[in-house]
Parts: sequence; C-alpha cells; structure tokens
Amino acid sequence: MSGVGGYAPATVRALARTIRSRARRVQNRFRRASVILLYHRVAEGVADPWSLCVTPANFHAQAAVLAGRGVVPLDALADDLALGRRRRALAVTFDDGYADVATTAWPVLRAHAIPTTLFVSTGTLDGGAEFWWDELERIVLGSPALPDSLWIDLGGEAFSWLPTSAGARRQLYFALHQRIGRLAVAVRTRVLADLRDWAGVPGGCRDTHRPLAADEVRALARESALHLGAHGVSHSYLGALPADEQQREIQASKATLEAIAGAPVERFSYPHGDCAPRTVAYVRAAGFRLACGTACAPVFTDADLFDLPRVEVPNLPGPAFARWLDEWVG
Ligand SMILES: [Zn+2]
Repeated sequence: MSGVGGYAPATVRALARTIRSRARRVQNRFRRASVILLYHRVAEGVADPWSLCVTPANFHAQAAVLAGRGVVPLDALADDLALGRRRRALAVTFDDGYADVATTAWPVLRAHAIPTTLFVSTGTLDGGAEFWWDELERIVLGSPALPDSLWIDLGGEAFSWLPTSAGARRQLYFALHQRIGRLAVAVRTRVLADLRDWAGVPGGCRDTHRPLAADEVRALARESALHLGAHGVSHSYLGALPADEQQREIQASKATLEAIAGAPVERFSYPHGDCAPRTVAYVRAAGFRLACGTACAPVFTDADLFDLPRVEVPNLPGPAFARWLDEWVG
C-alpha cells in the first residue's frame, strides 16, 4: 500500500491540528492577543460528562505555570481594552461556584498570588441542592437502574424514551439537558422532581458536587485577589426566558452577591455562554461593566466588553499545559 490512500486519516488530522495551532500562535503573537482562561472545577473521581474538572494534581502544576507567566485581574484586562492599550495579558476565571473552588482551587491560586474572577450562580447558595445539570446526571447516569421507558411532559413538550443501545443513558442525559436548560425555572424544578420520582432517586446534594454556600462566598469575597462576578440565579439559557425572567435572573444574582460581599459586583458571565442581543442589553442596563461569554478565542483589542471570549482550560499536566498555553499566548 502506498500513495495518498496510504495515509491514516488520524495522521492527516493530527498534521492539520499542528498547522492550525502554529498558525494560531503566530497570529496571536502578531496581534498581541490577551487570553481569558475559563475553569469550572478542581476535582477528580466524579462523574463529569461535560469535562468540567481539572484534577488537583494538574491544577497545582497549571498554577505554577501561570504564576511563571504572570496573570492580571480580569478588570485590568478590560481596562486595557476600554482604553485601547495593547498588552498581551492572561486572566483567570472560574464559572458556576462549585465548593471545590473554596476548598481546593483558591488555596493554590492564593499561594501563587494569581488574581482570579469567580462567577457565581446564586440559586444554590442556601445549600441542599446540586446544580441542575448535576442533578440530571445523578438521576439519569448515576442511578443503578432506570425503568424501561420514560414519558414525560417537559413544559408542554411530550418527551419519550426507550433504551435501545448501550449508550442510551448518555443519549437520554444529553437530550434532556438540551431541553430542560431552556425551561422556565419553576417548570424545570417540577420536571426534575418528576424525573426523580420516575427513577426512584431521592433529592439532596452529593458532597462531591456541592455548590458554594453563602458563607463560603462571603469568605472568598474578603480575599483581595479574588473578584466576584454574577452568573445568573438558576443557570438557565437566558435567551430562552421571557424578558422579565431574564432581567430578574441578571439583577437578582447581582443583588444577592452584593449583599453577601458588601461591595458592588460589576462583572457578569452568561450561563452556557448564551448572550442574545437582548440579554446583553439587560446586562448593560443592570449596571455591569463587563461580561464574559464562552466563544473560544483570544481577546483582541477590538473585543466586545460585553461578550469577552474565553478559552476553557483542558485537564492537562504542567508541561502539556505550558505547550497548550503557548498556542494561545505565544
Ligand atoms: Zn456556568
């Protein structure tokens, strides 16, 4: 076997990836792009269908790399943008507000003096419940057995499921995730209760998936290098909600965090990166000075302060993380 047909597709794809990453590195260096990193969790040994976790060992190594490169507060990066200053900077953000930010991530970031912006979804601060996607995972993927079929009313949409293959549970999880994230909060709460009844799974909150409690957020807010941002109340796809509910999510998450911190909270992160033009207008009107999305890109000098792109950090050990970072910041 020889000639073009002899190349393995995987080899061609790897070559294309290498060329793309080198091109990105050259382009970013030329344009002096900044990069905002996006983390969610520092944890291991937990179900993680969205790859949100960086393991503690990898996070320790990544923090050492970041400390060596130099990290600026997200606000400083935004100030550069607002003033048209060209500076290649690196900023660190965490989304959602998992308890492991307080117990595991922040002590490492603090030790390395890495300024960090933490965007907190406020609907779970009183304890007792997991984030809705974790509860869905606990019901659909975590229960030992499921009934043979499902028929459920998803806020007016009939949804049915029959397991047909080994991967059926994961398919069910992602299908339900796609639908119930866009439901009004009260409907989603009812649907999750119906799903728990269907699967015979009790309510509650696993310690491994615990969101931050209000006291923990209060303690973090006292740290000079940790800056709070709002992330909605119920972590919904805001663009799917009626106008009044969107505004309430945006304003109430700001007000709750300001009451906890005793200081203004002027940074927002769109849950699921969902930032329709109307949502952006509500965020501006609520008094925020910047907002982050999830478009995976560097921050060029013409970036929109109300849709700042961020790059999700992969779970890589130190040397591989340093190489990955080189591709973004050159
Ligand atoms: Zn989030």
